[in-house]
Amino acid sequence: MTVLILGGAGYVGSHATDEFLARGYDVAVVDNLSTGHRAAVADKARFYEGDIRDKNFLADVFTKESDIEGVMHFCAYSLVGESMEKPLMYFENNVGGAMTLLDVMHQFDVKHIVFSSTAATFGIPEVSPITETTPQNPINPYGESKLIMEKMMAWQASATDMTYVALRYFNVAGAKHDGSIGEAHKNETHLIPIILQVALGQREKIMIYGDDYHTEDGTCVRDYIGMTDLIDAHIKALAYLKTGGKSDAFNLGTKTGYSNLQVLETARQVTGHAIPSEIGPRRAGDPDALVADSSKAQQTLDWKPSESLTDIIANAWQWHQNHPHGYAE
Ligand code: UDP
Repeated sequence: MTVLILGGAGYVGSHATDEFLARGYDVAVVDNLSTGHRAAVADKARFYEGDIRDKNFLADVFTKESDIEGVMHFCAYSLVGESMEKPLMYFENNVGGAMTLLDVMHQFDVKHIVFSSTAATFGIPEVSPITETTPQNPINPYGESKLIMEKMMAWQASATDMTYVALRYFNVAGAKHDGSIGEAHKNETHLIPIILQVALGQREKIMIYGDDYHTEDGTCVRDYIGMTDLIDAHIKALAYLKTGGKSDAFNLGTKTGYSNLQVLETARQVTGHAIPSEIGPRRAGDPDALVADSSKAQQTLDWKPSESLTDIIANAWQWHQNHPHGYAE
């Protein structure tokens, strides 16, 4: 049986593809290569270039891959700042893409989907750490689009025999342990890779967006989850659905928050570089703190995060040092 990985050439999707193959699964990848890299996808996976919003294309993939045991969805847009500027782009791709996908899954009687949701669905949470029952009130179009996707999955699951798991990522970072695949965005906006680009001498300094948040040092606090831990949760989520687990959403984080300044300090220790920084204005759409209580995933999926922030940055640093220009070489 085949696992169909949508967005398998992207940052998270390429690590999922790699690990599903390593664990002996048969894997097919779909990616439109808008942000992903063909070189990030192992040759052992069958590759289809195209867009999940294109129903004919997607139906063709489902026809060729006639034995799909589950779909992993990693092909949504995921930048908070960009979503504030281009909200419709987010609804069109994230919500529209998921709608077409669910339709085609139904048509081909594919029963399980695991998809990436996000801490951004919670907005400014009333409690910390955030549990699955914390009210979801997104404050940016990215988070809103993922919340709509969660709700759409839930309604479709109630109307059909499809089951889903929504994994609400907190802040994903890091790379495969051997540094062979990693994070390579054309226009990097994420904190850890930008910090490491400064360490590599590719940027002059890191601008920290705001130091007047309601946190201990005034900079935003985030809960960083390592790539290896994240992918392990996906594989366990698919196994859970395959063994009759009911549709559900799980927070994925470590219950430990680090401020932007603490992340910077950890990166200085890992890399041994000074990494010049400057405090700048706030970025639109950023909540003060997002920290996950992931005990539900730990209990239900038998999952346990093991990578520390130092591990995460060390893995990312290895990737960035080995591939200073990403997949461009
Ligand atoms: N951030 C920053 N400088 C940058 C990039 C990000 O200060 O150049 C901050 C950002 O405002 C947020 C945190 O780092 O407080 C994490 O942002 P990132 O974009 O990495 O992930 P997000 O939380 O948006 O998913």
